[in-house]
Amino acid sequence: MIDTDRWSSELRTRGVDHVARSVLLSVLDDSAQAADLSAPINCSGLGRIRHFSSATSPGWPDNPLPWLPARQHLGVDAVPEPRCEAQVFQNAVCNWRCWYCYVPFSLLRGDASRSRMVTAEDMVDMYLALEERPVVLDLSGGQPDLVPEWVVWTMRALIDRGAQDDVFLWSDDNLSNDYLFRYLGDGDLDLLSSYRGYGRVACFKGFDDSSFAFNTAASPELFKRQFDLFRSLLTVRPDTCAYVTLTAPKIPAEGALVAMRRFADSLQGLDHDLLGRTVPLRIEVFTPVAARMRADHHAALQVQEAMVEAWLTVLEERGVIPLDKQFGAQPSGDSRGV
Ligand code: SF4
Repeated sequence: MIDTDRWSSELRTRGVDHVARSVLLSVLDDSAQAADLSAPINCSGLGRIRHFSSATSPGWPDNPLPWLPARQHLGVDAVPEPRCEAQVFQNAVCNWRCWYCYVPFSLLRGDASRSRMVTAEDMVDMYLALEERPVVLDLSGGQPDLVPEWVVWTMRALIDRGAQDDVFLWSDDNLSNDYLFRYLGDGDLDLLSSYRGYGRVACFKGFDDSSFAFNTAASPELFKRQFDLFRSLLTVRPDTCAYVTLTAPKIPAEGALVAMRRFADSLQGLDHDLLGRTVPLRIEVFTPVAARMRADHHAALQVQEAMVEAWLTVLEERGVIPLDKQFGAQPSGDSRGV
């Protein structure tokens, strides 16, 4: 089992250089992840294009992240369809080892031979120089919040270049540490809070402590900590969204619906509308995942199908406001089958 706090601290040391104000980014060239990419790797091997679409799989709810908040900031002309492209950079450290992670584990351990230290300024310059530049800039991982300075430094680089109104900045977080509050100063937190063109999503790695431990290889006690951390994030960004993964080795003995109601209670205990801002992610088997899978992982792919049915039942029972209405923006067309 991973010692999350010790490992987080060690990876943070590898993942940031405060003197040079640079962040360790994964080199995607020649990685196992490259086989799954539909567009060429860009930005000197450090960047990739990701296609986000509302359409998911039959039986699964739409996923309007991040195109919907991007449209809210940039307008319908910049994001006309219920989908968008994003320019993605990945930091090269993560403290957990989710079996379903589509990033090869070799790109999560801060391995100097598979990563490069880059300043946010250089990263933003590479992004802005792209000929066909996506309007969304996605800081992903890895676990970006092992180095929470990355988002703040990127905001400042965008502001310095006068690009803050033309770009929607998006970042994710695995809800594993409080580094955002431990290492950022008040000025940084104010910027994080007030920066208009920014959205954040944090991922619940399971629906109970047992599914959490199965998914992450971390201690089951940290499932509860995910909620404590989310509560803190809401003080900085009340519009923070959530993902949840519904994989587990088996359906809970109490039944899928009871387990999902309890999870929904916990989300609504943080913010009544958070249930509607939470998107279940269907786990799929990308190239790096296939080699890691055991029999219980294969079973978990089936379990998630039963759990999402329970999820949808709970949303209906509680009359949840869909995410698009919470953001006050409607898709311009049919979001399915795109
Ligand atoms: S937290 Fe995210 S980056 Fe880290 S192993 Fe899990 S899925 Fe991968």
